Amino acid sequence: MKSSRFKKWLPNLNTRVGLVWASVFFIWLKTMIAYFFVFNHLHSADLQDYLLMIVNPIGFTAIFIALSLFISRTALFYTAIGFWNFFGTLLVYGNVVYYREFADFLSINTLTGGAGMMGKGFDYSAIPVQPLDFIYWLDIIIIVVLFLLKKIKIDQEPYGRSKSFRQLTIAVMIFMLTFMGADMTEHRLVSRQAQYDDTYVVRYLGLGPWLVTDGWYTHVANEARNMASKSDFTKVQQYIAANRYLAPNVSVYGKDKNKNLIVIHLESFQQDLIDKSIDGKPVTPFLDSLYHSNSTIAFSNFFNQVGQGKTSDAENMLETSTFGLPTGSLFQSLGSTQTFQAMPAILNQTEGYSSAVFHGNVGTFYNRVNVYRNMGYQNFFDQSFWSLNSQDSTAWGLKDKDLFYDSVPYLEQLQQPFYVKYLTVTNHTPFTGLTENELDPNFKTVNSGDPIVDNYFLTAHYLDQSVEEFFNYLKASGLYNKSIIVIYGDHYGISGSDDKFYLPYLGQTNVSSAPLASSSSSSSSSEDAKASTAPTWNDYDEAMMQRVPFMIVTPGSTDGYINNEFAGEIDVMPTLEHLLGISTQNYIQFGQDLFAKGRQQFVALRNRGFITPTITEPNPASNEFYDTTTGQQITPTASQVAYINEIQTKVNTMLNMSDALNSEDLLRFYTPAGFTPVNASNYTYTVSATQKRLKQIEDSLKAKSTSLYSENHNVSTQSLYQSDEPGMIKSKSALAIASSSSKGGK
Ligand code: MN
Repeated sequence: MKSSRFKKWLPNLNTRVGLVWASVFFIWLKTMIAYFFVFNHLHSADLQDYLLMIVNPIGFTAIFIALSLFISRTALFYTAIGFWNFFGTLLVYGNVVYYREFADFLSINTLTGGAGMMGKGFDYSAIPVQPLDFIYWLDIIIIVVLFLLKKIKIDQEPYGRSKSFRQLTIAVMIFMLTFMGADMTEHRLVSRQAQYDDTYVVRYLGLGPWLVTDGWYTHVANEARNMASKSDFTKVQQYIAANRYLAPNVSVYGKDKNKNLIVIHLESFQQDLIDKSIDGKPVTPFLDSLYHSNSTIAFSNFFNQVGQGKTSDAENMLETSTFGLPTGSLFQSLGSTQTFQAMPAILNQTEGYSSAVFHGNVGTFYNRVNVYRNMGYQNFFDQSFWSLNSQDSTAWGLKDKDLFYDSVPYLEQLQQPFYVKYLTVTNHTPFTGLTENELDPNFKTVNSGDPIVDNYFLTAHYLDQSVEEFFNYLKASGLYNKSIIVIYGDHYGISGSDDKFYLPYLGQTNVSSAPLASSSSSSSSSEDAKASTAPTWNDYDEAMMQRVPFMIVTPGSTDGYINNEFAGEIDVMPTLEHLLGISTQNYIQFGQDLFAKGRQQFVALRNRGFITPTITEPNPASNEFYDTTTGQQITPTASQVAYINEIQTKVNTMLNMSDALNSEDLLRFYTPAGFTPVNASNYTYTVSATQKRLKQIEDSLKAKSTSLYSENHNVSTQSLYQSDEPGMIKSKSALAIASSSSKGGK
């Protein structure tokens, strides 16, 4: 280190220009750690890709930091350097933490939408910080200490205008060269089309350019909205008529006409939980029984299709049969102003359905309170309706057993037929918040080495019990036979850094609760053995884990079965509407009735990958294809290439059309025949307004009121509800009724 020859190559931290390039070096170094050790989707088979990854942070970072050289005033110069180091590190580290959880990069929408998500209900302890993370901040700490100890001197001398200009020119040239190299990959990275996948942009241009271009396109999206016209809508309309709409299957069309529709949204519930047991004890015995019941049409290859908007994307697909946005949450970014032609409004206007959502969290979460008004939901029972105490809620809101129980006084006042949705919350990462006496003493979870995975089975088991209790109430109250109940999982529960701990349980129906590394030898050597024999986790496994339950329970029917066709969340809306006897022909819906004839089975993923019964492309950025049935990576044959191209074109067109429709708010140009546009100002969800409204409706309808409460001669049915939840009211008189008509399942 003392060698003067070596020292010549190191930036002299005692000079301003030396500090500038040292700062660029350290931010580059941190970016490399993140690129190679955290952002594993960036990895590629192509050497040129790696070269671009290695150089791309340099030019962009250097431009900003070199600009500081133009500052003459000493204090201001060092403040600017400090700011850029802090900001650059924060950008890298923020992405590291975000990526660990979501396998994705921060965008303008996640950052601004994040503000709404960081309020009540956000569990800060769930942020995946790791002990080694201090290395991202180490250089800043050391340099500050060296300044304080006066080991590094303050350079009072301004660098000079022309010399500063020369340094800036070097920075700009490095950036231009990187940019040209990136452009030669032919991904047209700064074009709108490339923006759907930030992986490309980060791989070739870097984190900073991604955030800048994303910010630009967020702005452009707002502008696009102002520019769009009726002719843009007509293109989408023609596409839907020619490519997506399928006439209903006459054998099932309208078979559930006028029945109540109850949708139960199973938070973070993966299909692989179904039929799984731990040491012989089923994780979700009740949902298993529904899955196999002859009153249930269940789907075994039903995939979630959510993007960054997660839960809200799933809801958007079920309510509108359009996709979420390429980045961010549609609810959050557009939902306050969007024109929706959604389930509650259509069901109300065609068949007179009343509507409600029951949710344990606050109404502002994902901007639901505004979205639901625009969708025409008459009632939204959010956290303000429940008397919460710390015992009854987790970070995500009222616990599921309480939610179902507490919903009854409102559910029974809704005019029938009704369309209601229950958004459960307890089975939400990090799957904590249940107390000891809420856990089933007869059910023990695994010991995976990762508390997220261990707890996932516990909250899933709890959710299963919650649903069973609610079903028992539906049976006891008589609602059961007048309803169809739709159960679905919104998206995966396990992701990112937790995958490898979940892998041993995936695909196995019965698993052991014992720790995996059961060897009696020293823990470090058994750890090594485990690592060397551990199966690898790839993008195919990740894609297959996107299966979620979708079950249509039709009480009284006996023609249920398990359908193995490939389908996704986008298809739910037209399927349900046709069962209720509602035509979808005049609506813009991207999904297809799962009972209609002529469906081509392919599932479009939000990242533009796809899953078909034969071929899976988990992520177009990595250009890898797998045999869907065997999981083997394939080199496509000529006929497979033709098939892949056909499906890829269909996926791209569908997502482009959906994105145009939503981002440009094209439905404002179109009112389907028989549909009245929703006026959001007609809906208020406050507790007092809601209670008043429900009573007024019953009073004005008198004998014609079809609410369960009216049918039950103005006596509440809540006493029929049984729960093993501690502290919940249990009615002894109701026990006999419920136990005779329920329990056990088929
Ligand atoms: Mn969710």
